[in-house]
Amino acid sequence: MEQSKRVGFVGLGIMGRSMAKNVAKRGFPVTVWNRTPAKMAEAREWGARLAAHPKEAAEQCDVVITIVGDTSDVREVALGPNGLLEGAHEGLIWIDMSTISPDATRELARVAAERGVRMLDAPVSGGDVGAREGTLSIMVGGDEETLAEVKPVLEAMGKNIVHCGSAGAGQTVKACNQIMCGVNLLGMVEALAFARKSGVDLDKMIQVTTQGAAGSWALANLAPRVVRGDLDPGFSVRFQQKDLRIVLEEAARLMLPLLGTSTVHQLLRSVEAHDGGEDGTHALIRVMEQLGNLKIVPSKE
Ligand code: NAP
Repeated sequence: MEQSKRVGFVGLGIMGRSMAKNVAKRGFPVTVWNRTPAKMAEAREWGARLAAHPKEAAEQCDVVITIVGDTSDVREVALGPNGLLEGAHEGLIWIDMSTISPDATRELARVAAERGVRMLDAPVSGGDVGAREGTLSIMVGGDEETLAEVKPVLEAMGKNIVHCGSAGAGQTVKACNQIMCGVNLLGMVEALAFARKSGVDLDKMIQVTTQGAAGSWALANLAPRVVRGDLDPGFSVRFQQKDLRIVLEEAARLMLPLLGTSTVHQLLRSVEAHDGGEDGTHALIRVMEQLGNLKIVPSKE
C-alpha cells in the first residue's frame, strides 16, 4: 500500500539498513544517506532514493530517522555542515533511533524545536535480528501527538512501541534496559563458572534455570552460545561499553551509585584489553575463566 509520508534514513549500518528496508516494504517512499557511500548501493536496489547528505534527505522527506553510533555522531549528522537541521522545513519530524545520552537528547530536542523541527527519541532493543524481522521494541520520548503521527512508520520496524514520557525519556528507558542487560550478563557468566567448577553439566543447568525465576534473555540466548564456543556478536562489547558509559555518565549526573553496572563496565574493559572489543558481550566469560582459573569456552579445532 502506497503511504503518504516520505521517510529519510541517515545511517545504514547493521540496524539502519534493515529498518529502512522494512519501512520501504510497507510502502513508504524512502530516501537514504550513509557516510560511506558504498553501503547505499543495496538500498538503491530495493528502490530507495539516494541523498547527497543529511540536509538533502531532510529537504526531501516528511520524517527523517537517524540511526548512527554515539552522541557525537548524532550531533554531527544533525547539527554539522549539510546536517539534517539545515534541511528543516515546515512539518519536518526527526526521529533519533540511535542509543545516545538522555541529557544530550533533551538539548538536541530543544535545538530542533528552535528550528521548527519536532524531535522524538526512539531507541530500540531487539538487536540485528529484531531489526531484520521488524520486531524491535521501541521506547519513545517526546510529544505524544507527534508519536501518533509517525506511529505507522515505527510499526514497520517494531512490535512493542511505548511512549515513555517527554524528550529524553526514551533514552532513559533504553539506559534502564542496558543496566539490566549488563547485570544479567554478569549473573549468567558467574553461574556458568560456578557450575563448571562444581562439575555439573552446563547444558542441563541452562535448560532448567532458563524456565525458572532466574530466566533472562542473556541466559536463554547467550549462555548456549558460550557453551558452543561461539563468541561472535550479536551485540558487540564495544557497543555495550558505549551504552554503559552513557548510563554511568547519567548516573553521575543523578548522583546515583550503580555498583553492578560499574562492575560490568570494568570487567568488559578487561575483555577489550584482550582485543575482544568486537566479540559479542558474552565474551565476558573470558574474564570469568581468568579469574577462576577454569575453562568453559571449547577450543576451536
Ligand atoms: P553500525 O553497524 O556500526 O553502523 C553505524 C552507522 O552509523 C553506519 O551507517 C555509520 O556510517 C554511521 N555513522 C557512525 N558515525 C557517524 C558519523 N559521525 N557521521 C555519519 N554517519 C555515522 O551500528 P548499528 O549496529 O547499526 O547501531 C546503530 C545504533 O543503534 C547505535 O547507536 C547502537 O547503539 C544502536 N543499537 C544497536 C543494536 C545492535 O544490536 N547492533 C541494538 C540496539 C541499538 P559508516 O557506514 O560510514 O561507518
